Parts: sequence; C-alpha cells; structure tokens
Amino acid sequence: MKYLIAAVALAFNLSLVSHATDSSKVIKGMPGDPDKLFAQLETLLPTPGVTRTASGAPGAQYWQQRADYRIRVTLDEKRNRLSAKQSITYMNRSPDTLNYIWLQLDQNIFRDDSIARRSEVAANAGTRRDTVGSGDSLSFAAMRRHQAFEDRKYGYEIGPIRDASGRVLETTANDTMMRIDLREPLRPGTSIEVNFEWQSNIVDEAAIGARGGYEYFPKSNTYQYFLAQWFPRLVAYTDYTGWQHKQFLDRGEFTLEFGDYDIEITVPADHIVASTGVLQNPDSVLTTEQRVRLKQAETAKKPVFIVTPEEALANEKEGTSRVRTWRFKAKNIRDFAWASSRKYIWDAMGYRQDDVKRPFVLAMSFYPNEGEPIWSKYSTHAVIHTMGVYSRFSFPYPYPVAISVNSWERGGMEYPMITFNGYRPTADEKTGKVTYSRNTKYGLIGVIIHEVGHIYFPMIVNSDERLWTWMDEGLNTFLEYLAELEWEENFPTFGDKTNVLDFITGYMQSTDQVPIMTNSDTIVQFGPNAYSKPAAALAVLREAVMGRELFDHAFREYSNRWKFKRPTPADFFRTMEDASGVDLDWFWRGWFYGTDHVDVAVRDIREYQVSTQDPDVEFPLKRQEFAASWPESYSQRQNRAEGLTTRVDRYPELKDFYNENDQFTVTNKDRNEFKDFREKLRDWEREVLDRAIKAGEYVYFVDFRNIGGLVTPLPLTLTYADGSTEEYAVPAEVWRYNAVDVTKLFVRKKRLVSVELDRKHLIADADKTNDITPRRIEPSRVELFRGRDRDRNQMLDALAELKGEPKVEKPEGAAGGKDLPLQPVAK
Ligand SMILES: [Zn+2]
Repeated sequence: MKYLIAAVALAFNLSLVSHATDSSKVIKGMPGDPDKLFAQLETLLPTPGVTRTASGAPGAQYWQQRADYRIRVTLDEKRNRLSAKQSITYMNRSPDTLNYIWLQLDQNIFRDDSIARRSEVAANAGTRRDTVGSGDSLSFAAMRRHQAFEDRKYGYEIGPIRDASGRVLETTANDTMMRIDLREPLRPGTSIEVNFEWQSNIVDEAAIGARGGYEYFPKSNTYQYFLAQWFPRLVAYTDYTGWQHKQFLDRGEFTLEFGDYDIEITVPADHIVASTGVLQNPDSVLTTEQRVRLKQAETAKKPVFIVTPEEALANEKEGTSRVRTWRFKAKNIRDFAWASSRKYIWDAMGYRQDDVKRPFVLAMSFYPNEGEPIWSKYSTHAVIHTMGVYSRFSFPYPYPVAISVNSWERGGMEYPMITFNGYRPTADEKTGKVTYSRNTKYGLIGVIIHEVGHIYFPMIVNSDERLWTWMDEGLNTFLEYLAELEWEENFPTFGDKTNVLDFITGYMQSTDQVPIMTNSDTIVQFGPNAYSKPAAALAVLREAVMGRELFDHAFREYSNRWKFKRPTPADFFRTMEDASGVDLDWFWRGWFYGTDHVDVAVRDIREYQVSTQDPDVEFPLKRQEFAASWPESYSQRQNRAEGLTTRVDRYPELKDFYNENDQFTVTNKDRNEFKDFREKLRDWEREVLDRAIKAGEYVYFVDFRNIGGLVTPLPLTLTYADGSTEEYAVPAEVWRYNAVDVTKLFVRKKRLVSVELDRKHLIADADKTNDITPRRIEPSRVELFRGRDRDRNQMLDALAELKGEPKVEKPEGAAGGKDLPLQPVAK
C-alpha cells in the first residue's frame, strides 16, 4: 500500500465500483469472461415441464413407480449362501404403457464376465499406484481378491419368473440387469406381480470388497453376515430417463422405487438379526428378558443392553443346527438390508421428536465384542445425535427405527433404517490390551453420523445415485459436517483439519479433476469430487453467499419438496434459488460445472483525500509529493556532502526568478483560475466539494485480482490506524463486468492501514499469503537436518547374525495394504 497523499480532482461521476485496469486479459467466451460466468443456467438445465417445474418443485403431474416386495430368505451358514422365494408387485403410475420391466441384479457385478470386472484397469484392481508409466506393483490384497474370485462363483442363480397366474415370462439377462417381457402391456394405473426363486453365494467382503457380504473372525472361528443389495430389485423407471439403463459398475450406486416390504429371514437359531423394518414376531425370536430390556430402552436416558457383551461372548462360542425365522415389515422404503450373527451385542435407546406422525424412534446398535469398548460408548449416541441435527435441517425422521451395525473394520454403507459402519479398536497380539487411535474414535462417530445421515439423503430424498454421486454424498457430507460441529468442538472431520474450506483447496487446485456435475462412474478423485467439494460448496453458500436464514429455509424446502420423491440436480439448483430469492446460477456454474478454484489476491491499495483545487493549499502538497516521488540525485547529495559548491553558489549574481521559485510557486493566474473554477461550479457541486474538504475523508481504491478463476464473494476485514476493524462483505456480483480484475472504492473518515480478505476462512481461498495488503511476515520454525549416508555396506551386512524364526509377511486389509514383491519373468 502506498501512502501518497495525492491530490485528485473530485470526479462527480465516480461509480462505486471502478472497472478493471487490466480487462485486456479477458477474452469473450473464455475463462474469466463474465458473460459466461454469470449467464443463466437455462441452457444447461432440462426444460421444466408437467413433472418438474421451473421453481424446482415436483410438477402437477409428477409421478413415480412403486414396487412392493415379499421375500422369504434363508441364510445357509455352512455354505455362506442365500436362497429365497421372492415376489414383487409392480405398480405402473407413469402415463406410459410398458411392454417389459427390468430387474437389477447387483450381485452379478461379481461374475467373472461382468462389465465391471472386465473393465477394471490395474489401478482399480488393487494395485497401489497407477501402473501407467510409474512402474508395476501388486498388493497382497489384490492377489487375495484374485484368488477369492478363482475359488467361488458369484452372481444370482434365478429360476423361472412367473406372473400371478403361474405363467412363465420370457426374460433376457444383460449384465447386472434382466428384462422381463410381459404377456400383456402394463397400462398406466395397473400393476403386475412376478414370482421367482433365487440363490446366490455370499461374498467374502474382506477379500473381495463389496457393500455387503460376510466377515470371518479367524481367532474365534465365527462369522457375521451383512446383506446389502442382496435381492433382485426393480430398476427405476423415471420421467427423465425412462428405465435407468446405466449398468451397475460399482461407483454409481442405486436408484430405486419406494414400496412396502414383508421379509422373512431364516437364520441359525442363536443368531441376532438387525434389519430394516419393524420386527413382527418378537415373541418367537427374542427371550422374555430381551423383550423386557427393549421396553426399558424406550424411556432410558442412556443406551440399554438388549444383549450384553458377556452374553454375546457366551453365545458366539456355542452354535446350533436349529433355525429361526425373523419377520420384518417396513412401509415406504426404497431398499431393504439386514445383518445376522451370533456375535452381536445389542443396545438401544429411545429418541423422541416433535412430530405428530412419528413422535418416537428406537435407535439401536449391533456389534461384536471386537468393537468394544467404543461401540457401546458411541454408536447409539451418534445415531440419535444425527437424527436431532438432520431433522432440524430437513424433516423429522419418518421411520420407527434407526440402526448402526459394526460390519467391518472401516468405511460405511447406508440403507433405509439401517447402516453398516466400520472402525474398531486394536487388541495387542501379546497382551490383549485394547487401545484405539484418535482416527478410530472420530472415524467411528463420523461414519455413523454419515451413514445414518444417508437415511435422509438419498434413502428418503431419493436422488439418482447411479447418475449423481454428489446429490447424496455431497449434501450428506455437508450435513455430517454440521452435525460433527455440534458433537464436539474441533471435531477432526478432515484428518487434522477441522474446516472443510481449508481441507478442499489442495484438491481444487489440482489439475486432475472433473466438475462435480460428472456422472458417478466417470469421476476422477472420487472422494474430494463427490463428497468434500460439494460439502465445501454448500458451506460457502450457507455462510458466505446466502447467509444462514436464507440457506436453511431453502435447503429445508428442497428436502421437504423431494422427500419420498426423486429429485434431479436441476430440482436442487432451482429450489435453492426459488426459495431464497438469490440468483445462484453463477455459483452452480463455478462450483458444480467448473474446475476452477478460489484464489483472490488483494493486490494494491491507493489512498487519497479530496483536493480543494486551491493553489495556495494544493501546490505546497504537490511540491512535497514531487520531492518524494522524484528525490534529488544521489550524486548531487554526495557532492554537497563532500563540500562541493556550485557555480551559482559562488557567483550569486547568476540567480534570477527561477532560482527563487519552483514550478509549484503559486501565481495570480493560478489564483484567478481557481476563482473561475469555483464560480463555474453549480451550487450543489460546490456544496459537495466543501463538505468533502471539511470532512477530510480518505478515499481508497483497492485492487483485487481473481487468480483462481472461481467467482466468489469477498468477505473483507478493513483495519484502521486507530486499531479498529470493519467487516465488509462484497457480494460475488462484483465480478459481473470483469471476472479477473476489479477495483473497489472506499470513502472512510478513518485512515486505513490494511485490507484483508477472508480472515474468517469462509470462501475456501487457496492462497492465504496474497489475502492481505500490506503483506505480513508469517513467523515459523525451521528444523536443522543432517545428511544421510545411503551407502549399503554389504561386508558389514554379511556379518549380521541370523534371527531365530523366519518372519512371514501377513497380508493386510484392502485399504492401503502392502505390495507383493514382483520380479520380471526370466526369458
Ligand atoms: Zn456416503
């Protein structure tokens, strides 16, 4: 910042924003062109119609299909296999006549001939690094997965599909889908029932990697089963794409129809079953004591054990050849999952909410002793906490139960009313002492909040996961973040970073990215793209663009408009604008359709006061300013210092008018001109000038440059010479004429000493070093280091003693495992 007190003529046509000095950089139609950045989204969004309105709400003729399921399934624990009798009643509520219906057969993704498996590349088949150009490598986990596929065949074995009168229907299998040709076209408003039997092998989840399967505990020779996308489900038929014909490739999850479910699950008699829905026959599957404890849990102040850790430990040691059938029913759900094991500890606690339809929800957790002590401490609390926070931002939790199951070591997965969650403590191999890391503790709480949050998005706000991962993961990660902020302060949501906006900048600056608006299966850098970037976007939207009041209202409106319905991205974008009255097209373009990042620099501040234009006042000031800008030469000063005299000094008679007067000496002509200037001013102009002079206000021109390219609001902190500060929020519309360089004008009574952008970390600005003018020196510490000797002394190594037992390398879990040693095959 320069502190020149320059005199400028008061220009009466100064607009609040003076436009860029550097606009030559912006080329029409290219990045930085405001025409593109602020253009309305109509050109990109689907045309509104009778099913989806321009306001983002479901239209007057909105429709969706319905599918009801009745399944009797048996778990064969000896063969790790399911066999089932299934019937589906499919209701055609569309205005279209259907000649065929499609089933989705998700388990077929594990067949050797699936598109997903055949299109795997080395990098996503379990190698540790991208093998293109960076050396080949293979992990233990990748080889174990290969061996697991060699050992068993997966996918559905489906019997003939019959209609209600028992007639066999023609079918055609196509990868993870199967077409059922109907004997008579299914007309609008009519329904069809199909019945069939099927079997499938359950995958070893640890070896293969899946959203469900079984987990084997070698130490106790026990199992748990968690069954997800385990049965053939109806493919969604929608107003925007007809039958969802995108095959299941793994990343793009599920788009499903709502319906009612009646499921009978037959398992070994000593198993505890956790499931979507309400248990219909507690008297025949639970002990009297368990039923009493369940009743107590409803009003308890903390989680109550239905099965205690000791009981679970005793139970897992026995085993039985008897079976029991658990029957569950659930209304208006889009999917159904369950888990079963003789290992389960079970706790529960009631949750009460202000809702006439559903005043009470039972929160429950199921976990093996391997999850203790953190599961009984945190799981059910986290389930209830999630409902409390999410309901405030959307709608009351609509289902009778909310469940968390510890199904694996890390990660999580969501289904209606039930979630499968990871994270367990570690037991020391020798001492058995159980400890857990910070990451395990917060990972556990975080994943439960996340997965229970998914019961809202997308299990109720039923977005199309096969197409748009961000619509459920992004929205849900944002709400998870809000819920974690309310769990405890400084919750380490993003590793060691607690603010999503500080976490996301590294990704947003990376070159290997695609826009958020990319189909699920073609996203690169999946986690940051579909989870944290949309979460960061919504955090910016809420706190820096819209403000909490407008955002929260609009977000709640979106949630309520689309609960139990199927929103598309356009419905979200439109509703957020429609309900808030804020034009956000620039925001969606920048954050959701683009890959630019936020980086704005505060480049320069220039300070002025209004000139009186009176030569007797201004000329002395101009003289000072001239002297400061054009100081006398060093040689001249040095000559004077050495005592050198000039000829004019020695012969004073050589001096004349110009030696006595410089160019800033005021003449009468100057005074006359000033008088003329004042006289020619209109009355109001003279008043403005006199008032400005009397006030002695400071005029500042502050230059901003948008380096990152993403249009952003500018939350500024102005600091004054007296130490006081002023917060000033510049809206993103400041970039609408020039999206690269803008200059803001500030007229202030107090003298400004610095302008800082984003002091509160609100806008995900990637480079904080250019956010303040004048620049600041940031103190830090430097560590001294010693050079390393890399020489391998083979003579010395040969003298080392051989240790007792040869060490056998143990394979690790699929995530971040070790590499197998690879050698080129000798020719
Ligand atoms: Zn998720």
